[in-house]
Amino acid sequence: SVRAGIIVTGTEVLTGRIADQNGPWLSTQLVALGVDVAHITICGDRPADLIAQMRFLADQGVDLIVTSGGLGPTADDLTVATVAEFCHRELLLDRELEEHIAGIIRRYRPRTSDLDAGPTRIGIRKQAQVPTGATALPPTGTAPGVVIPALAGDRQVPTIVILPGPPGELQAMWPSAVTSPAVDEVLSRADDLQQETVRAYGLHEAQLAETLRRADAEIADLDRLEITTCLRRGELDMVTRFASGDADVYRRLLDVLTEHHGRQIFSTDGSTIEDQLIDVLDGRLIATAESCTGGLIATRLTSRPGSSAYVTGGVVAYSNDAKSDLIDVPAELITAHGAVSEQVAAAMAEGARRRLKADVAVSTTGIAGPDGGTEAKPVGTVCFGVALDGRPTYTVTRRFPGDREQVRTLTTTAALHSVVA
Ligand code: ATP
Ligand code: MG
Repeated sequence: SVRAGIIVTGTEVLTGRIADQNGPWLSTQLVALGVDVAHITICGDRPADLIAQMRFLADQGVDLIVTSGGLGPTADDLTVATVAEFCHRELLLDRELEEHIAGIIRRYRPRTSDLDAGPTRIGIRKQAQVPTGATALPPTGTAPGVVIPALAGDRQVPTIVILPGPPGELQAMWPSAVTSPAVDEVLSRADDLQQETVRAYGLHEAQLAETLRRADAEIADLDRLEITTCLRRGELDMVTRFASGDADVYRRLLDVLTEHHGRQIFSTDGSTIEDQLIDVLDGRLIATAESCTGGLIATRLTSRPGSSAYVTGGVVAYSNDAKSDLIDVPAELITAHGAVSEQVAAAMAEGARRRLKADVAVSTTGIAGPDGGTEAKPVGTVCFGVALDGRPTYTVTRRFPGDREQVRTLTTTAALHSVVA
């Protein structure tokens, strides 16, 4: 199999000022290509640390290293020079690349005065340095990427791909990295692996583990599947990787799973709850009325392009007055039952459906904590309402564990599931 390591560079990532997006994204891409991602490491903008991590990965015998970050024009962007040194390669100025970068900068910053001399030109020259024997990848921002083919022999190094740090630039450059001859050669040795995802809601990891244990006794060759489970935002994902030849083993596993957990499993084709919500809506429009989730449901509903085809809008009605003023929840209802009640949740959903001219509306009102809980309604108590045209409004009360952030996240997921159910 082909093994890869990812090195994310950047002091801002190392120190936690920025959450790493590139490691997970690259890993997903590589896994989809059948590559075994062995390590993701993070280092600051210090050459010695980057060299140490490349040395480590090379010692692990990885076939491919992908780095992100440090391709800018400034003095702290040192990745190409550092990797070149590690690979025993000289840096050569690529004149054509230099003019290409200058052209990009001229387009973006037409008033730049020091393009022909001065710091900007020095920066461009720096970015146009390509290690000998390497391939430059066309810039998707201003910085070109680099692919350095593996070096065999006693100074053995794996193939190294150097990509820019800004996630948009890195992702845009990825296709040209994958199709470059040196990377293509590595990937051609990767296993032909298939990956399938099963998603469940309301299923505990321990229950699934127990079912998998039992399946192991029933199904021969189950160990040929690589199964990983992961709890995410209240849903349990099970991702299975296998060689195409073992597809029937996977099918038998799927049979056992649906037999035991058919009610909890809501997706076997990789679709998400958002995908299914769009299917269920089938052209109808949805609105939200949110108290404790503060807009998180609307955020998830609108996170993909084209969401205006099914979302009319959302109201964050946090205070009692806002609930009355914005979505017509009768003040007496709140006094009689409390803001966190199924009666208020129902009125919120109905009010939002009317006010926002939707066919369906979903509401949440709850106690996210850490304060505000009572004996009757402890922290984590959330009431939901789903208002539908021509049907009685559905309500339910649930209780979620965890801190404020977790309660809000679990509530958001539950709200999406309550519409699909
Ligand atoms: P630039 O020309 O913009 O300097 P670069 O290739 O040198 O590009 P970096 O300097 O490492 O990239 O990062 C530039 C910015 O890109 C960072 O400040 C950060 O906002 C974003 N970025 C870099 N790496 C990551 C990462 N792993 N995850 C998320 N964002 C990142
Ligand atoms: Mg930089």
